[in-house]
Amino acid sequence: MSGDGDNSGAASLDTVGLHRLVEVLIERGYRVVGPTLRDDAIVLDPLGSAADLPWGWGVDVAPGHYRVRPRDDGAAFGHSSGPQSWKQFLHPPRRRLWSGSRDGPSTADSDEEVPRYAFLGVRGCDLAAIATLDRVLGRGQFPDNSFVRRHRQIFVVAVNCTEPGGLCFCASMGTGPAAGPGYDLALTERSGGDGVTYVVEVGTDEGADVLAAVPHRGADDAEIDSARAAVQAASHRMGRAMPDANLRNLLIEHRESPQWEEVASRCLTCGNCTMVCPTCYCTSTEDVSDLTGEHAERWQHWASCYEFDFTYVHGGGSVRQSPESRYRHWISHKLGTWHDQFDMSGCVGCGRCIAWCPTGIDITEEMNKMARDD
Ligand code: SF4
Ligand code: SF4
Repeated sequence: MSGDGDNSGAASLDTVGLHRLVEVLIERGYRVVGPTLRDDAIVLDPLGSAADLPWGWGVDVAPGHYRVRPRDDGAAFGHSSGPQSWKQFLHPPRRRLWSGSRDGPSTADSDEEVPRYAFLGVRGCDLAAIATLDRVLGRGQFPDNSFVRRHRQIFVVAVNCTEPGGLCFCASMGTGPAAGPGYDLALTERSGGDGVTYVVEVGTDEGADVLAAVPHRGADDAEIDSARAAVQAASHRMGRAMPDANLRNLLIEHRESPQWEEVASRCLTCGNCTMVCPTCYCTSTEDVSDLTGEHAERWQHWASCYEFDFTYVHGGGSVRQSPESRYRHWISHKLGTWHDQFDMSGCVGCGRCIAWCPTGIDITEEMNKMARDD
């Protein structure tokens, strides 16, 4: 899995081909996960076939607002990010680390069977988020084995974005709308007189092998040019943008700004922004035992830096007690100290934290405000 996009030898698929692509992946033992419509949202679920995709559904988003809406072109990928991300499959929200009984040996779950996932419909921003998680969890001195084993066997079908949402700002983060490196196959969905069709770029040998098993033809120059133009146009239609400034330095300079108090007057410290973020990776652990005390287990679960107890130090209380210190920490890590730690940004510009913040706090607006005040 390491595709990096050369569409000179691109292929063309119709919707029959897309159905067959899903079948081929399932036949090859992949658990295919992709977008589907459930509970009035576009969510990521295992797909039984391409019929499960959200054909003809789009979304409207605004700060603190997300609604699905019907589309009239029958597109399957005509929607921006939903409440979930691929993180939940690579770094599950809750995972048992070990279990043990008083009379028997304890069992570490580090060798658990992990599914071979094929991710269908990964946007440029989310592909960058997967690379970010790999940088954080998959590399370094102490890689997370569960993540590494899940990540190394994924097959990625990316989708170049032609219709950004009102909260997207991947163009200003350099992560989209075209899918960057890391895909096996990349689709650009086109809808028009011929119905819905796909220009397909191959990123890896495995991608080429899968495509060979799917009915397709070579894309002609007009198809390739129109797909390229649609992606290019999308980069100018982003609903949001980060300021063109050094965000890390801006945050350092505004460390004592009154802006933190103002944003804290709106922030509920609910942690939604961290849960929906495709790159937030923090976890906590808890030990549980049964009522008899015969059996005990240790579980890892997602945690949020907005939780009061997140920085609890025994005997000393929590380090970040005020809402302003917790918001400042979150945004400063995302856009600032992530660079120092991992040599990259922790934000990929997906816009989820804006849509799913109950009070509509907007990370781009906060940074633009800071840049204006500079
Ligand atoms: S901080 Fe917000 S916009 Fe950036 S990657 Fe996380 S959820 Fe997406
Ligand atoms: S910024 Fe919004 S989503 Fe994040 S903790 Fe505050 S209120 Fe919740």
